[in-house]
Amino acid sequence: MTTSVTIVGAGLGGLTLARVLGLHGIPVTVYEADPSAQARTQGGQLDIHEHNGQRALEAAGLGSEFRSIIHHGGEASRILDQHGTVLLDEPDDGVGHRPEVLRGDLRRILIDSLPDGTIRWGRKVTSAASLGAGRHALTFADGATVTTDLLVGADGAWSKIRPLLSDAKPRYVGTSFVETYLYDADERHPAAAAAVGSGAMSALTPGKGIAAHREANGVLHTYVELSRPAEWFTAIDFADAAAATARIAAEFDGWATELRALITDGEAPPTLRMIHTLPNEHRWDRVRGVTLLGDAAHLMPPSGEGANLAMFDGAELGSAIAAHPGDIEAALDAFEEAMFARSASEAADAHVILDLCLGDRAPFGLIEFLTGTREGERA
Ligand SMILES: Cc1cc2nc3c(=O)[nH]c(=O)nc-3n(C[C@H](O)[C@H](O)[C@H](O)COP(=O)(O)OP(=O)(O)OC[C@H]3O[C@@H](n4cnc5c(N)ncnc54)[C@H](O)[C@@H]3O)c2cc1C
Repeated sequence: MTTSVTIVGAGLGGLTLARVLGLHGIPVTVYEADPSAQARTQGGQLDIHEHNGQRALEAAGLGSEFRSIIHHGGEASRILDQHGTVLLDEPDDGVGHRPEVLRGDLRRILIDSLPDGTIRWGRKVTSAASLGAGRHALTFADGATVTTDLLVGADGAWSKIRPLLSDAKPRYVGTSFVETYLYDADERHPAAAAAVGSGAMSALTPGKGIAAHREANGVLHTYVELSRPAEWFTAIDFADAAAATARIAAEFDGWATELRALITDGEAPPTLRMIHTLPNEHRWDRVRGVTLLGDAAHLMPPSGEGANLAMFDGAELGSAIAAHPGDIEAALDAFEEAMFARSASEAADAHVILDLCLGDRAPFGLIEFLTGTREGERA
């Protein structure tokens, strides 16, 4: 008898798994807390890497759909100092190794690829319990329950499935990002648009930075990065957008006006994203009938890899389940051993990258890392 798969979470990881399982004819249901596909804006642009994200989309049979949503010209990147001086400028070479797409577009092509009814929207899991013999019970916010054959936690940083496997809890890394948006930037915010250029811009100093991305349709999407204790941020009332904007902008007094404009001219309420991590070596002993993927398994600071890794996990797990008919535990063993190794290495890199961006030698450590030289300090 074919085991049916229950996935909690319709993020990029869970959706990729659902699609790959569907291609192999394996029955799958996804439970998602959001009430609908449109319930939440899906954040910014992601670069999709050849060795993981793109391979996952090929395994999902969505290569051509992916190519149709690429934002061409978005691969340029530059590093500035706080006065707006360009220290490193790397134009888009047009080779397309790291094509940029909007997260919302990527999620849409995955959702559209699934048969109607695969995703059960508005089903927030509140707890999961073992029933023995590899079966589990999920309880939802409305009190309903379901029983699972194979359960996959793809429910992100605050996974409700993780406690079945591990006691690990996300730890605050000491840095938070505040997200802002400027629209119609070339017409309405030309100085900020010129500072950002055609792709990604990072203006970095020790402990603080402004990292912005030019997205499709003249949108400037910014992460204001600040290394401050969690209480510093929780003392700010983000429900009062004007006061929160002023408080964050005050940290950048003396910075170039065109960079501060990415904060002060924000046209959407500033959104706080506190950055948490699981231990780099997070792993667990095999527990029958359940596993994790993506952020639920290996939450790490943003390094441009998390979404790529989540999709790759989804594709790898789907392929492993299809390759081991009748032996789910062998599939999970193979998947987890490979995932533990690749995510430990990526997590270690993610912490190094965060330190290069905001550590004592910012931005010169990052410039050296990107160029392989010490030219940063001479610039
Ligand atoms: C500020 C920031 C910037 C980032 N930038 C990048 C980047 O440029 N490139 C990149 O590759 N990665 C980036 N990442 C990382 C990336 O966002 C994550 O690694 C990726 O989204 C993980 O995907 P996932 O499917 O595992 O989890 P998620 O995307 O978190 O999806 C989990 C899903 O589960 C649902 N869910 C949660 N709890 C429940 C529940 N109890 N019941 C039912 N459903 C539930 C959620 O609603 C969600 O739909 C960034 C992260 C942050 C914080």
